[in-house]
Amino acid sequence: MQQIAIFGGTFDPIHWGHLLLAETALQQLPLDQVIWLPSFKPPHKQAALFKHRVAMLQRATQDHPAFTISLIELNRSGTSYAINSLIDLSAVYPNTHWYWIVGLDTFQTLPRWYRGHELAQMCDWLIAPRFLGGETIAQSELICKQVEEELRDQFFTIRWQFLHIPLVGISSSLIRQFIRDHHSIRYLVPESVRSYISAHQLYSNKSE
Ligand code: ATP
Repeated sequence: MQQIAIFGGTFDPIHWGHLLLAETALQQLPLDQVIWLPSFKPPHKQAALFKHRVAMLQRATQDHPAFTISLIELNRSGTSYAINSLIDLSAVYPNTHWYWIVGLDTFQTLPRWYRGHELAQMCDWLIAPRFLGGETIAQSELICKQVEEELRDQFFTIRWQFLHIPLVGISSSLIRQFIRDHHSIRYLVPESVRSYISAHQLYSNKSE
C-alpha cells in the first residue's frame, strides 16, 4: 500500500513555510509523495486567479521528485471542499494510506469544515505548530487534544501527530501585505515565485 500526504491550501502565494512543511513531512514519515492541492474556489477566502497560484506552485516544486500538484479541484463546480477532493483522489490513487498536512491554525477549525468529522477519520493528520500568538508546544498540543475531544464527543476518531519543525512566521497574507507596502519579499518565497509575482504584478493595485 502506498503512503501519500495531501497538502491542501490556497497558496496565495506559496512561500518557504509551505515548502519546509512538505519537506519535513517527507523526512519524518514513510511517504511516497506529497500531493499539493491548491484550492480552486476556497471557502471563506478571496484569492488570486487559480492559474497564477498554480503557476507559482509549479515553479516552486518542479525540482522535487516527490512533489506532485493536483488540479483535481477543477473538476468540481462550486466551492472546493477538502472531503470531495480526498474522495476524488482516492479514485485516482487506490490502495493508499492517506495523510493530510496542515498548520495548527487550520487544524483547529477542522470540526467546522464541510463534513469535517467524516474527513477527520479518513486520513492521518500531520500538524505543523504555527505561531498564533505566543503559545508553547504544550499549548499547541492542548489545542489538538481539544479538537480530538470535540470529535470524540460525536463518536468520530482522529489520528494526528506533530511535525517537528521550527516555527516559521511567514504567511501568504504577510507576503501580500509586504507587496502592497512595497517591501521586499526576497527570501520569503523562492526566487522563481518572486519573479513571477513581479512579472504579473500580483498583489499590487495593478493586479489582474
Ligand atoms: P494566509 O496568510 O493567506 O491565510 P497561509 O500562509 O496560511 O495563507 P495557506 O495556503 O492558507 O497559507 O496554507 C496552507 C496550509 O499551510 C494551512 O494548513 C496552513 O496552516 C499551513 N501553513 C502556512 N504557512 C505556515 C507556516 N508558516 N507554518 C506552519 N503552517 C503553515
